[in-house]
Amino acid sequence: MSKRKDKRIKKLKKQRIWPSVVGLIIIMILLTVIMAVAMAVGCVDIVQRKFVESSNESVKIAQLYEKYNDNNSESINDSVKTYVDMSGEIEKVGVLNSQGEKVWASGEFRPAIDNISEFDMLQIDKNYNVRVLVEEDLDGILVYENDKITISDNVFEKIEKVITVDEATFFSDSETNVLTRVKLWMVVSVGELEVFVLNDIKILSRDLFMLIVSSMLFLLLIVVFCIYYVVSFVSVLVNIRRTNKIIYTDMITGGDNWLHFVRSGTHLLKKNRKGKYNYAMLHLKMRKYRSFCTCFGVKEGEELIERFYGVLRKGLNKKETVAHHENAEFGLLVTYIDEQQLNMRIQELENALDAVIPAMKLYFAVGVYKITAGEMDVDQLYNNAVIACELLGEEAENKTAFFDVEMNKQKLWERRVEDDMDKALANKEFKVYLQPKINATQEQLAGAEALVRWAHPAEGFIPPNKFIPIFEKNGFILKLDDYMLEEISRQQAQWIAQGRKVVPISVNVSRAHFTREDLAEHISSIVDKYQVPHNVIELELTESAFFDDKAVLLNTVKKLRDAGFIVSMDDFGAGYSSLNSLKELQIDVLKIDADFFRGAEAQERGMLIVSEVIDLAKKLNMKIVAEGIESREQVDFLVEQECDLIQGYFYAKPMPIYEFIQRYHSE
Ligand code: C2E
Ligand code: CA
Ligand code: CA
Repeated sequence: MSKRKDKRIKKLKKQRIWPSVVGLIIIMILLTVIMAVAMAVGCVDIVQRKFVESSNESVKIAQLYEKYNDNNSESINDSVKTYVDMSGEIEKVGVLNSQGEKVWASGEFRPAIDNISEFDMLQIDKNYNVRVLVEEDLDGILVYENDKITISDNVFEKIEKVITVDEATFFSDSETNVLTRVKLWMVVSVGELEVFVLNDIKILSRDLFMLIVSSMLFLLLIVVFCIYYVVSFVSVLVNIRRTNKIIYTDMITGGDNWLHFVRSGTHLLKKNRKGKYNYAMLHLKMRKYRSFCTCFGVKEGEELIERFYGVLRKGLNKKETVAHHENAEFGLLVTYIDEQQLNMRIQELENALDAVIPAMKLYFAVGVYKITAGEMDVDQLYNNAVIACELLGEEAENKTAFFDVEMNKQKLWERRVEDDMDKALANKEFKVYLQPKINATQEQLAGAEALVRWAHPAEGFIPPNKFIPIFEKNGFILKLDDYMLEEISRQQAQWIAQGRKVVPISVNVSRAHFTREDLAEHISSIVDKYQVPHNVIELELTESAFFDDKAVLLNTVKKLRDAGFIVSMDDFGAGYSSLNSLKELQIDVLKIDADFFRGAEAQERGMLIVSEVIDLAKKLNMKIVAEGIESREQVDFLVEQECDLIQGYFYAKPMPIYEFIQRYHSE
C-alpha cells in the first residue's frame, strides 16, 4: 500500500476521542468553577443582606430608645423588650453614656469591651452611624470598608463551608436550622449616648433555600451535560467501530476486503518472522467469470463470488486469511507442509468451489508464491502469485503455477517493452531486415521476407521473439506491421524508380489484423501511397489465423488476391496443421515451417510429410517455400521434391537493407 493511501486510511480511522474527553473535562471544570463562584457570591450576598438587616434593626432600636427616653425606663424597657423578643436576631440591648457608664439595659448587659475590636463606621442610615464590635474569636468574619461590606478570606472559607450542599441537606433540627451564626455588637450613637445592640446573625437554611435550589438546578445541568457527553462519547466509539467495519468490508462478499487482507496478512507474516510455518500466497481466480456473468447476469455472478468466499473462508484455519480482490479473484495466505501437500490443499479448495454449482463444471487457475520467512509486503507477494497465474494461459482447465524469479523478469521486461514501444516507433528504432528466398533449382534470388529488429538505445539489438508476442498481446503489432508494410512499399518504390530488378518481398501480417473487415482495403491504401504494383508485395498470414473468424479470413484473402497481392500461409505445420484448411483457402504460397527440418529423429518422418505436403500444394496450384533451411542435404532433398523457394541460413541470414543491396543488386 502506498504511504499516502496508508496515511489517508489511518486518518479516516483516527479515533477522535480525545477532543470529547478534553471537552468533557473542560466543561466540567468550567461548570464547577461557575457553580462555586455563584454559590460564593450568593452566600456573600446573603451575609451582606443579613448584616445590613441587622444594622437597620440596631438603628431602629436606637430610634426606639431615643423616642421613649423621656418617659420612664419601664416603658423603654417594655418597648425595646417587645422589639427584642419579636426580633430573632437581637439578643441584648444596652445604652452607655460618653463615660462608658451603663445608662440603661434591656436585661443583663455586659459588653465585653476589653475583648472587643472596633471597626470603622458604617453609614447604614443617613442619620446614624453604626460601629460594629466583634469579639476576638470572631474577628475577621465581617469587614466593612468605604461604606461597603466586604468579606475577608476567612469568611470566604467559612461561607464555602456553609453552602456545601451536603451540609444544607444534612442540616439538623437540633441546630434550629442554623447553618452558621455570627454574634456581634453594633453600636449606634444617639446624641451623647451609645446604644449597644448584640446581634445574633444567623444564616438559616431557609436563607439558603433559593441558593440551594439554583445550585441543585445547576448540578442537574452538569449531570445532564455529563450524560450528554457520555452518550456522544459512546456514539463516537460506535461510529469508529462502524467506520472500521466499512473500511474493512468487501462490498461483494460482505466479508473482509483487500485492505483487511493486507493488514491481517502482514500481521500473520510478522508473527511468523522466524519461519515457524511455511506460508504461501495464492492468487485464485475463476476462469471465464465474465462469460458466466454474460450468461446468468452480473448479480448472479456476484452471488457466486460471495459463496466462493464462504467456501474459501471455511477451508482456512486461524493462521490463514483470505479476501476477495476483484472480479472473480481471491487472495489467500495459507500455511503448508510441502509442495505436494500444498497442491492437494489447492485441489481440495478447487473441488469445494466447483461444488458450489453442482450442475456446472467450473474452472480455476491458481498462482502460487512460496513466501520466504521475513517477506511481509503482502501486495508484492500477491503480485508474484498473480504473475505466476498469468503465465498459465487461458485454457479452461484447472491449473496451478508456482512463481519463479524468471517470471518476474519476464513481467518486468514486458513492462519495459510497453513503456518504450511508442517512442521506438516514432524514433525509427524498428529496423527492417531482409532474408532472401532462393529459387531452389537456379539458386537465384526469387524473393525476400521482411523481418523486424529493434535497435533499442539501451538494450541493444532485440530479436523479434522478445517483443512480437508482447505486441500481439497489447495490440501494438497492428502499428508495427503497418510500419513494416510502409517501409517495404517505400523501398520497392525506390528500387523500381532506380530501375533495379525487384523481387516480391513479404511482410508478416499478424493474426490480430483479422478482426478488421476492411483489412484488404487498409493494406491496399498503404501500398498505393507509394504506387507500387501489388504483385511485388507478399503477405504472410500465420496459420493460426485460420482458427479465428473463418468468414472474415476467407473474404480478406480473396480480396487481397483479387487486388493482386501475393498471399502466403506462414509456418504451415507448426501448430494445428490442417490439410483441410489448404483446400478451403485459395492462397498463392505455402511456407513449410522450419520445425519439419529440425531434430534427427523427426527428420525422416518430417521429410515424408514434407513431400506429401508439397505434393498436395502442387495439386492445389500453390508455390512452396521451405523455411529454416540450414544444410546442403536439406536443399538437395527439397530440390528433389520440386520445392520452389528456399529460405534459410544455408543461403543467408536476415540482413539490413544496405547489405541486401550489396549482395543481390550487384548480381
Ligand atoms: P517467421 O515469420 O517464421 O520468420 C522466420 C524466422 O526464422 C525468422 O526469425 C528468421 O530469422 C528465422 N530463420 C530463417 N532461416 C533460419 C534458419 O535457417 N535457421 C534458424 N534457426 N532460423 C531461421 P526472426 O527474424 O527472429 O523472427 C521470428 C518471428 O517473429 C517471425 O517468424 C515472425 O513470426 C515474427 N516477426 C518478425 N518480424 C515481424 C513483423 O514485422 N511482423 C510480425 N507480425 N511478425 C514478425
Ligand atoms: Ca514469416
Ligand atoms: Ca515462418
